[in-house]
Amino acid sequence: MRAWFSPAYTVAEGSETFPTRKFELTAKALLADGTLRPEELAAPDLPTPSELLRAHTPEWVAKAVSGGLTPAEEALLELRWSPALATAHRLCVRGTLEACRDALGTGLGLHVGGGSHHAFADHGEGYCLLNDLAAAVLELQATRRVSRAAVVDLDVHQGNGTASILAGRPGLYTLSLHQEGGYPSVKVLSTRDVALPAGTGDAKYLKILEEELLALLARRPELVVYQAGVDVWEGDLLGGLALSAEGVAARDRLVFRVCRERGVPVAVTLGGGYAERVSDAAALHARTLRIGMESFK
Ligand SMILES: [Zn+2]
Repeated sequence: MRAWFSPAYTVAEGSETFPTRKFELTAKALLADGTLRPEELAAPDLPTPSELLRAHTPEWVAKAVSGGLTPAEEALLELRWSPALATAHRLCVRGTLEACRDALGTGLGLHVGGGSHHAFADHGEGYCLLNDLAAAVLELQATRRVSRAAVVDLDVHQGNGTASILAGRPGLYTLSLHQEGGYPSVKVLSTRDVALPAGTGDAKYLKILEEELLALLARRPELVVYQAGVDVWEGDLLGGLALSAEGVAARDRLVFRVCRERGVPVAVTLGGGYAERVSDAAALHARTLRIGMESFK
């Protein structure tokens, strides 16, 4: 098995509110319990300009890569641009693309990063500079690796950027299950949106998710890119849903099982996770990836 990860995902400066250490802590957790061997962690290269341009405008790619964001753009992004930040987010675009290619080859692709669903074609929002999810499916469709693909976004926050970039693209579908009334304040229509009231717990969540997954897979995507944000966990500081840790694991098992049963490859990315202790978020993320590997054994 192979999982995509770069130590460069940890950015010390400019992202004080976003715990970038969770990426390396997640990778370490997977190594510590033997889920992965060190040689199974693969570091992505930087994406090509054309890979970024699949999802983004030339103006935004230039700013994201080289800087020059206005104060308003940085405020919306909620991160301070730095060369290290740009490198981390660019690498994540390629990491998700590589995980998708692994999925198409073996059934499962793993990215210990990615899931930047709030990035739009021409600007960043909410810790998301570049949209790895949209860039990956657009690249794979443009290069004819797939004609139909779906993004399953189970982060507690709505996948507004992905929905915006992929809107109206034939063969590309977006499903977002998220908290009603949560960030972002203005939602962008996905192919299918399900807004769940704060406090929604395991049983109701899982029932709705299964119905939605079956409806989505009826569109016969050849690839599912799974944004597996763990900010649906009841202890998350930014989320208001009430999934237990067991509920988050059951969510992941459900996604992997339903896709596997129907022969649909899955590439999994991390997404949000804002536990008070970053190690708790990392443990939840690691469990998602472990469940993916168990499900596709
Ligand atoms: Zn989130």
